[in-house]
Amino acid sequence: MNLSKRVPRARLASRNENKLRELARVLEGWQLGLLDAGGYPPEEGATYYENALAKARHGSRFVDEAWVLGEDSGLEVEGLGGGPGIRSARFGGGEPVERLLEELREVEGEGRRARYVCELVALAPSGDELRGTGVLDGRIAHEPRGNEGFGYDPIFVPTGEERTVAELGNEWKAENSHRARAARDLLRAMSRRGSSGV
Ligand code: IMP
Repeated sequence: MNLSKRVPRARLASRNENKLRELARVLEGWQLGLLDAGGYPPEEGATYYENALAKARHGSRFVDEAWVLGEDSGLEVEGLGGGPGIRSARFGGGEPVERLLEELREVEGEGRRARYVCELVALAPSGDELRGTGVLDGRIAHEPRGNEGFGYDPIFVPTGEERTVAELGNEWKAENSHRARAARDLLRAMSRRGSSGV
């Protein structure tokens, strides 16, 4: 038997290298790459899951013989009633961090509690669908700190930490992020289904 054939092959339907790096750490040993398909449908789903599924379905039109991963994620802030949530990517018109800090200027305590959420959908070459979910709890800092990660990472302090995700860095994130957690959840779903991902 040719063992190299047993390595799961998958394409992430995204252009975001940061997301790829975080998933690749957990999906260790997979042949994983970005699928820059273009022409993605707008993110109009009511949930992260619907958006992730739409990305995976779009990507799977361009891929044979490999899994296609769709991912959608967002930041939910207590003081914004759970917003920006699935609208995180469009929040703040190009300056999301500044806008969020502004909106929370008078908010302290519970209102600064927040969580990152990630939903992953994996479509097998057979069309089978599996999913994984991950959450990272934390709070919103009063000013940006740190240089790693992306998006809201300079103002997100995970529960149990004093530093922001951007200060904790990419290594920390690859182990602990909502995305890493979703990838581990997906692996559990695969083993429940008796699928090795191949
Ligand atoms: P998506 O690319 O449509 O999933 O949009 C996700 C948006 O949520 C990003 O543009 C960020 O604003 C935010 N977000 C999701 N995950 C992260 C993360 O790991 N760090 C920082 N911001 C994130």
